[in-house]
Amino acid sequence: MVTMKNVVIVGAGHGAGQAVAALRQQQYAGTITLIGDEPWLPYQRPPLSKKYLAGELPAERLYFKPASFYDDAAIRLMLNTRVSSIDRDTRSVTTATGDTIGYDELLIATGSRPRTLALPGVDLDGVHYLRSIRDVDEIRAGMQAGKRLTIVGAGYIGLEVAAVATTLGMQVTVIEMADRVMSRVVSPELSAFYASVHSRHGVNFRFSAGLKGFTGTSHVQQVELASGEVIPADSVVIGVGIVPNVELAEAAGIETSDGVVVDDHCRTSDPHIYAIGDCSMHPNTLLGVQLRLESVHNALEQAKTAAANICGEEAVYCQVPWFWSDQYDLKLQIAGISQGYDQVVIRGSMEERAFACLYLRDGQLIAVDAVNRPKEFVQSKALIAAHARIAPAMLADSSIELREMS
Ligand code: FAD
Repeated sequence: MVTMKNVVIVGAGHGAGQAVAALRQQQYAGTITLIGDEPWLPYQRPPLSKKYLAGELPAERLYFKPASFYDDAAIRLMLNTRVSSIDRDTRSVTTATGDTIGYDELLIATGSRPRTLALPGVDLDGVHYLRSIRDVDEIRAGMQAGKRLTIVGAGYIGLEVAAVATTLGMQVTVIEMADRVMSRVVSPELSAFYASVHSRHGVNFRFSAGLKGFTGTSHVQQVELASGEVIPADSVVIGVGIVPNVELAEAAGIETSDGVVVDDHCRTSDPHIYAIGDCSMHPNTLLGVQLRLESVHNALEQAKTAAANICGEEAVYCQVPWFWSDQYDLKLQIAGISQGYDQVVIRGSMEERAFACLYLRDGQLIAVDAVNRPKEFVQSKALIAAHARIAPAMLADSSIELREMS
């Protein structure tokens, strides 16, 4: 059994929930204090823009673990509590209400927040960002068949919201600064496929569009584009990326750089402080790059790594990143990082809505976007980890299993 005095976790989200579970699984017997500024137990955010938004899931089903788990594991839970500072000399954190809690090891799991827009009218009622259960409850209150929803940003969250809203019978317009959907992360081929699916469901797109602001008396009524076009709207959802919550670490003198900088043990520049999840900038030794990822898999795996190190193991985080997005009947599963690819191979059939885009750089498979092809996703993830080099013609040949190509 591992004995230790006191672990404090700041942020009670997805990564924190997994860290608590992993610490207890590792037989960590000391005290664990979990401090989060939201009122809920650690919960899963992915359903927020999917089934929870569609009204198909009650809030309790979002919880990472039931309340009884925290009781049974003797976790000191401090919800609705914001940590306002870290004092590294005294090894303690102070909350906004003035409580001071000492730690032997500190885990920063503060996640990220939506990037905000400084535009006229952005504070009007009916203009929303989407990060928490509360945000979705407010968005859903305005979602009714026939109402007009404008979405700013054609990334994952914007498109998932568009899929739910059109399915509910809303009139949806998506405004995007770039010239295609999901432009930051997928190839033009996949963007074109998703744009056409959404268009067939009635989504109206405005690409390469600048946003001037929002107008209305107290509630939003119109969205104004830089082109002069005015789009009537009953509500607006803004999904234009996230900002990592690094301020707490930064103020404590911990190294940050678009994220709290950690090593492959999830340890920050202070050996008694770890950071995981959306807020961490970490090395991926498998891919040879520094990354800050916004994905459940990353939060969960880093939580396990940090917990193991806190318990005295020398665990290293070394994973192929992966992510998923659900839109209509399409399950998109992404593995690897496609940035910098020089060739894309399509395997399967776009017409049949079951295919994979396989990305190569200098002949090496670096990433996959699989649409309704779970087998391709799993098998190519293994090939990416193995730095496999496979001829494009072979990759495209669906009669040969990917796993036979290693
Ligand atoms: P979070 O889960 O965000 O938890 C951080 C917590 O810390 C928050 O509760 C925050 O309020 C709190 N906090 C911050 N500062 C303080 C402070 N000073 N004091 C106390 N508490 C603090 N990922 C996928 O892989 N697939 C998906 O399909 C997917 N869909 C998503 C859909 C939506 C709508 C959103 C918002 C995210 C989605 N993600 C998805 C991303 C995924 O949810 C995140 O990567 C994951 O939640 C990161 O976990 P985390 O613990 O780092 O942060």
